[in-house]
Amino acid sequence: MTSYLSHLECTVCGKGYPHEQLIGISPCCEKVLFARYDLAKLGREVDRDSLVSRPESMWRYAELLPVDDPGAIVTLGEGGTPLIKSINLAEKLGMSSLYIKDEGLNPTGTFKARGISAAVSKAMELKVNGFTMPSAGNAAGAAAAYGARSGMETKVFMPQDAPDANKKETLVAGSELNLVKGLINDAGREAVAVAKELGFFDLSTLKEPYRAEGKKSMGLEIVQQLGWKMPDAVIYPTGGGTGIIGMYKGFKELLELGWIEGKQPKFISVQADGCQPIVRAFDAGADSSEMWENATTKADGLRVPHPFADYLILEAIRATGGTALAVSDEEMIDAMYEMATAEGIFPAPEGAATLVGLKKLLDQKFLDPNESVVLFNTGSGYKYLDLISGQKRS
Ligand SMILES: *Cc1c(COP(=O)(O)O)cnc(C)c1O
Repeated sequence: MTSYLSHLECTVCGKGYPHEQLIGISPCCEKVLFARYDLAKLGREVDRDSLVSRPESMWRYAELLPVDDPGAIVTLGEGGTPLIKSINLAEKLGMSSLYIKDEGLNPTGTFKARGISAAVSKAMELKVNGFTMPSAGNAAGAAAAYGARSGMETKVFMPQDAPDANKKETLVAGSELNLVKGLINDAGREAVAVAKELGFFDLSTLKEPYRAEGKKSMGLEIVQQLGWKMPDAVIYPTGGGTGIIGMYKGFKELLELGWIEGKQPKFISVQADGCQPIVRAFDAGADSSEMWENATTKADGLRVPHPFADYLILEAIRATGGTALAVSDEEMIDAMYEMATAEGIFPAPEGAATLVGLKKLLDQKFLDPNESVVLFNTGSGYKYLDLISGQKRS
């Protein structure tokens, strides 16, 4: 059970870099670096079914994750979340195979735990001094928790108006919380400067190669949970894009290994009306996005006005015949009630947004009710109690 990581690779020009030192973005093109694995060797040496008997955790896929030394793994039980087959929503929508991947059950209540566990573990293996994390929301709480668990100092940088829940979970785990005037990009600039000064590892979304690897495990899990089959469509609330990019990469790796066959699922990005740079770029046929001015939405995970890895998100959507659409905050909040009332799953507004997207795409006949569809509830509604008025809605 050891990693088959072979090197890092620039996602633009393909130049390779050794993984024995921590690098953030690619020095050649200043773009995203991907972790690459020796898949030929892995395919020869490991049987996919041997992974299934291991404990339910994302680390059951250790061969396809970037950490060599099992002793370096910083874990709080991330991953191994249920893929819940919808009964009541499926019936209401006339669907036969609708699933909800409930990532709200992760440590710190969101799927951010997966990416942060992977990145913090790799950084521990390579012996860092500490971590910096710019975040508009849930990534802060995850970084603080895994920072605490690792015993390394963690400095979090958040916009002043970041949600209370995220500020508190950062403080309670003993991280230094720096409130920054401005938006996430301003927080990012400060985090990078401090990281440079102190020799800390900066955990900014896709400005290091390992968080996407952790999130890739969501894709590995759903195919395993579906009996080594890919669904027809994946609906994903998209902010920085780590999840979509990671899963698209993960399915490619499984296809190359011969562990699954067929076509990748259509990747469908759902964004908020008040911050939809990927939708605009997709509709325009562009390969990258433009800054979305005055970004606002109550779904904090979606308030990413200019994703660094926009080109990779757009590639995953287009290459799989997917699409991108935006929904309003109102619709998301209604769908929080709807998902909780129908299935007993209390979703984050981001997760609820996928249900709104699904209904629109069924109406538009972009999706067929007979297709198998996975909605990603990326976080727990318990972190967003202020959005719930207490009134029952029908
Ligand atoms: C961060 C976040 C997102 C967006 O995730 P990406 O993979 O970066 O696009 C969605 N939902 C929640 C709850 C989040 O915290």
